Amino acid sequence: MTPVALVDAPAAMAASVDRMRAALQATLDSVEEGIIMVDPHGRVVVANRSIAGMLDLPPEVLAGNPTMDSIIAFQQQRGDFARACPSQRRWLDGSRNVPSPDNYERATADGRLLEVRTRRLPDGGYVRTYADVTEQRAAERSIRAAEADYRGLFENAVIGIYRSTPDGRQLRANRALVALNGYESEAEMLASVNDIASEWYVDPARRAEFKRLMERDGQVTDFVSEIYRHKSRDRIWISENAWAVRGADGSVAYYEGTVQDASARVQAERRIDYLAHHDTLTGLPNRILVTSALEQAVAEAGHGQSVAVLCLDLDRFKEVNDTLGHAAGDQLLQQAAVRLRAVLGPNDLAARLGGDEFAVILRNVLGQGSVRQAAQAIVRSLSRPYNVAGQRVVVGVSIGIALAPGDADNPNELLRNADIALYRAKAEGRGTHRFFESAMDARVQFRRTIETDLRRALAFGQLDIHYQPIFDLGERRVSTLEALLRWRHPTRGSISPVDFIPVAEETGLIVPIGEWALREATAAVARLPGDVALAVNLSPAQFRSRSLLATIVNALATSRLPAHRLELEITETLLMLEDADTHRAMEDIRALGVKLALDDFGIGYSSLSYLQRFRFDKIKIDRSFIQKAAGDDASAAIVRAIIGLGRDLGIVVVAEGVETTAQIRALQAQGCRWVQGWALGKATDIAGVDPAIRRLEGRPAWRASA
Ligand code: C2E
Ligand code: CA
Ligand code: CA
Repeated sequence: MTPVALVDAPAAMAASVDRMRAALQATLDSVEEGIIMVDPHGRVVVANRSIAGMLDLPPEVLAGNPTMDSIIAFQQQRGDFARACPSQRRWLDGSRNVPSPDNYERATADGRLLEVRTRRLPDGGYVRTYADVTEQRAAERSIRAAEADYRGLFENAVIGIYRSTPDGRQLRANRALVALNGYESEAEMLASVNDIASEWYVDPARRAEFKRLMERDGQVTDFVSEIYRHKSRDRIWISENAWAVRGADGSVAYYEGTVQDASARVQAERRIDYLAHHDTLTGLPNRILVTSALEQAVAEAGHGQSVAVLCLDLDRFKEVNDTLGHAAGDQLLQQAAVRLRAVLGPNDLAARLGGDEFAVILRNVLGQGSVRQAAQAIVRSLSRPYNVAGQRVVVGVSIGIALAPGDADNPNELLRNADIALYRAKAEGRGTHRFFESAMDARVQFRRTIETDLRRALAFGQLDIHYQPIFDLGERRVSTLEALLRWRHPTRGSISPVDFIPVAEETGLIVPIGEWALREATAAVARLPGDVALAVNLSPAQFRSRSLLATIVNALATSRLPAHRLELEITETLLMLEDADTHRAMEDIRALGVKLALDDFGIGYSSLSYLQRFRFDKIKIDRSFIQKAAGDDASAAIVRAIIGLGRDLGIVVVAEGVETTAQIRALQAQGCRWVQGWALGKATDIAGVDPAIRRLEGRPAWRASA
């Protein structure tokens, strides 16, 4: 607006000036803002229509070029400046000797907000405009509040929030993300990150995958990746939810998303996954993992290369567990697992199937030869003595082996066949390995039936005891009868104790069966004329049952067989555990006056050391030595040595399994006094015992040879 001296216009121009004035007034009146023009003397020369409304001035206050002071006085009196700003108040109160601020905002009495702008004119007057900015300011305020609100959300969110570019630059990051990634501030983070793919991701391929999903779906949810933290280079797992923001041209302009620390969750998931596939005690893979590994290995086999599955079972593990406790058993399993892993190659897999059962997968094998070598190495390593719970313990391992292709082509059947071969290895003397053969299947079936039927055998009176004489070549008399169990199976006929005793031991049935045998045999032998002794076999499992001593005492008391006529035969197996409880039980038995015999002497691991540690009344040379002694110098030497040893230690030595007269003569020549075997007589039922004794003791041939 040009400052026009409308009031002092020359008269000649009055008409046109009036028109101009009217036009100008109309223009000014159409403006929404209030406009007022004041001359150098402080008089209002122009005021538009809006001003009256804006300042709520009655027409008479504005009429006839009033002074600005009179207007202000009116306003002041009315209380318009009650809410004036401090600078304006100072001006009003200071009698206006401080200059009025040019631009300011003030609130009106009725609460509206006016923006007042003053423009000074060269002649000393001024033009002042008033704008009602109530709504505008309110809108601005609410925008600011909203912005602060969202900023607060962004900044204070506990999850990380970001915006980044597809080429890997970071544009925004909130506090949580800055902290999560190990930066001090957002500024530091934005400045440091140039390529997210290489600087953050442990596996840069994850970033490529992220971008691929973004391109394809425009978003990712729970995208989990492992990243490095800044400075420390610690690794953490993060989970991202992100979306692509596209520009006007439809291409991805940037990514926005949230990030959360998923380390705990990923660790938990991994732990669960690990637990699901591993055995916690030994850390070895479990059956689930071994089955899937086997599946894969079988699929990859071919071109002359096979996969071998070995099923392992520790011999005598149950004894360690029962006598030394579960903690010792656990230690033994852990140590066995360590040895197993150590003996295997990097491509072989060892697993624990449960209990004392392990499995091994050998890949790329070229035939039985290399598998046999591996099996032998395993047997050697696992059979070395262990130190568990401060005790020296010896256990063996039996191994069954199945090959694919050949024996089976699916994992479960392979494992099953290896397991069948394992049964066979155990039955054939343990501490050894066997390859699967299809004929073995039938044997396993047989064993299962035995297990079921044996439970009934005792109750149904199918068990019986036969007696085999031990002959004293010196006194030419039967010194002892060994009680040997017989099972008359209703459909299968006679079943050998070699077949059913191991089953009885595994099922625990040996305890009642052994107790019955002891009672039955003591009663029967006590009724015989003369003073022949009785030898009864004891399984290690019977030692573990607390009732053993009571059983022996009861059997002696009921039968009235004198304690010195009872001998209990035990094998080295029992002694291998070398635990205090076993030794105490043995001492207790000897304290009753009952004798102890060491059975099957010579076939164990360190037979001689047992003789040193525990006093036996009798040792029985295993029949394998006697039978080989005729043609095998080493066996003959062993037999001679044992006989000499017995003589020196004052222990009775019995030669078992003597089948021929020639063997008797040879043993006799070596100073062996006690013999047992078919040459003297097979085991007979109790009715046959007395005639057998009479025949043996009265036989002229024996007199002659003695
Ligand atoms: P063992 O204690 O070594 O018993 C001797 C075994 O050798 C008996 O077999 C006997 O019949 C056999 N034998 C005897 N003389 C000869 C011979 O000249 N040549 C050959 N080749 N063998 C001969 P059996 O009766 O089949 O018993 C086998 C095993 O079963 C026994 O071996 C013993 O370990 C176990 N057993 C038998 N009865 C019992 C029992 O009541 N309790 C326990 N725990 N085990 C028993
Ligand atoms: Ca025996
Ligand atoms: Ca024996």
